[in-house]
Amino acid sequence: MEKKQTDTIVIGAGIVGLAVAWALLRKGLSVVLFERSRAASGASIRNFGMVWPIGQPGGKLLNRALRSRELWIEAAHQAGFWINQNGSLHLAYHEFEWQVLNEFYDQSISKGYNCRLVTPVEAKQLSPYIKTSGLLGGLFSSTECVVYAREAVRLLPEWLRHRYQIEFRFNTPVLHVSGNEVLTANETWKAQKIFVCSGVDFETLYPEIFRNQPVTKCKLQMMRAVKKQASAQGPSLCAGLTLRHYASFSSCPSVARLNQYYDEQSPVYREYGIHVLVSQNQSGEFIIGDSHQYGLHHDPFNDEVINQHILNYLSTFFETADLQLVERWNGYYAKMENGASELVIQPEPNIYIINGLGGAGMTLSFGLAEELVNNL
Ligand SMILES: Cc1cc2nc3c(=O)[nH]c(=O)nc-3n(C[C@H](O)[C@H](O)[C@H](O)COP(=O)(O)OP(=O)(O)OC[C@H]3O[C@@H](n4cnc5c(N)ncnc54)[C@H](O)[C@@H]3O)c2cc1C
Repeated sequence: MEKKQTDTIVIGAGIVGLAVAWALLRKGLSVVLFERSRAASGASIRNFGMVWPIGQPGGKLLNRALRSRELWIEAAHQAGFWINQNGSLHLAYHEFEWQVLNEFYDQSISKGYNCRLVTPVEAKQLSPYIKTSGLLGGLFSSTECVVYAREAVRLLPEWLRHRYQIEFRFNTPVLHVSGNEVLTANETWKAQKIFVCSGVDFETLYPEIFRNQPVTKCKLQMMRAVKKQASAQGPSLCAGLTLRHYASFSSCPSVARLNQYYDEQSPVYREYGIHVLVSQNQSGEFIIGDSHQYGLHHDPFNDEVINQHILNYLSTFFETADLQLVERWNGYYAKMENGASELVIQPEPNIYIINGLGGAGMTLSFGLAEELVNNL
């Protein structure tokens, strides 16, 4: 079999693989990208499309998220997909939630966040969809933006192909990687560097490496919904449960009180890893989720009880009266169990595995890929 050659090979056309490919192309390297499916259909098209710097702890990860945000805006403008620089609004309905937002705000300038506290009236002006009954206030942050993931991840390859010298091999599972070679059913390719960005598929390539890493899989349930009058596209929305989900809030002392309250009142939220986010796409539809169930094996079925808990919590901060569900799905991502933000390892000198970005792959991949490629 004839061996074909390129500078670099990327495996996986999810957001991690696309980010690595774009970073390599910007360095002037030739890239061949292999994707098992006709088009990426994993975590990267199943998410909220949120680029969410406010969820990242100050320092390296916040800076990486903010750099990713710049790259998303550049890519969206050049590739022609929709992006909304709409910011985020965290809502507080309990005294301890308002306390957490105040504590976060007090640290925000020194840590590099760009946010402000808002009154209930201001919050309603930012988003007509929120409930103001019992609302104590909110935290508006200007750095979050949203893409419609299924559009962006479909258009990114087209743009990369058109703009740079990249060859996409869709419908082509990679069966084996070793040394400088990549083997598919019909071809062998050689490259100076190979990047394995295979998402939750740990089993095909380097299974022994993954078996020895603190990495697991997370299953999430999601919904898409419409409202009759939903033209405004305000900030992406969330409330108290989200304040215990992201590492950025963990330094706020009142998170302990918040945890205690929800664990006593509604232990089901922790049981299913529920916190609720709402983004909006360019058609005004709402993307709603999610739950988090961890383990190396998951059944493929959605649990309607979980969806109901998500919707119940949603109704505490969002006007759900005329909300109509039009789609439900689940997604899976790889997540580090040791608190690390990603897994980057070299199983062999010229091969890099990049995985385990958890619930922040849309937020961090572009920045991470740039850092990795700059350090090659
Ligand atoms: C429901 C949900 C909501 C989320 N919301 C957000 C959000 O709003 N913001 C955010 O920042 N992050 C979010 N995330 C996380 C983010 O989506 C993931 O971190 C990210 O998509 C992971 O990207 P990936 O490229 O590693 O994986 P994937 O998107 O799964 O891509 C991996 C690709 O590799 C291919 N592949 C695997 N093995 C092979 C092989 N041997 N040969 C060829 N191809 C192969 C697969 O077919 C797949 O297309 C969410 C995730 C989910 C599931």
